[in-house]
Amino acid sequence: MSQNGIHAMVGIASRKWMPKREWLMLGIVLGNMFPDLDNLVVAYATLTGGDKHGLHRTFTHSVFTILAVLIVFYLIGVISKKPKWNNLGLGLGIGILMHILVDLAVWFNGVELLWPLGGEVNFWSGVVVPDWLSIILDTGEFLTFGLYFLLLVNLSQKNKTDAGQRGVARTWAYIEFFLFIVFTVLFFSIGAKGLPYTIFGALYLVSLIVGMVLTTRMRNTIEAV
Ligand SMILES: [Zn+2]
Repeated sequence: MSQNGIHAMVGIASRKWMPKREWLMLGIVLGNMFPDLDNLVVAYATLTGGDKHGLHRTFTHSVFTILAVLIVFYLIGVISKKPKWNNLGLGLGIGILMHILVDLAVWFNGVELLWPLGGEVNFWSGVVVPDWLSIILDTGEFLTFGLYFLLLVNLSQKNKTDAGQRGVARTWAYIEFFLFIVFTVLFFSIGAKGLPYTIFGALYLVSLIVGMVLTTRMRNTIEAV
């Protein structure tokens, strides 16, 4: 898996090239994070003993998802007569596309770009990931979430925005760093499997949702350039 915090920071980094429109940058950062919510479905399938195959990097990582998002938010914008919803949808579409491109470029996995039509695109097939690296790629989720949250704190200080959110964001950053250390030590000593891995997965999903909530709450920071 490509670390979600990296996706979020890539979204933030794209600010310079994006036009300034209400909720557009919010959509772009959320769109960069959104596709990994498919892990919620993977977790559900795991807990219920269902079939996990073909759930990750498929239905949220498809060009058809982008089209669906664009259409839904365009309609909400028309019906509510608030163009910022359309901006949000456009941002989400751009963000999801960026996420897919980053996934294809890095970290040893393929993406089902045209799901549900099938046909995985994988530039990494044939590459065997050693155990130690796959542990770091997993626990690195916490590390990069922490770095992303600190980036939000930093930008909010620079732009003098969302002062009330800084404390929460900073606290979560330290929680993420703590989890990174704990799970890295744990997985290297006992292996990344069983109950500890399930707990890891649950905490990853909590972190992802916290990340998306913080992003939304700190949208003034993200949109101030
Ligand atoms: Zn992904």
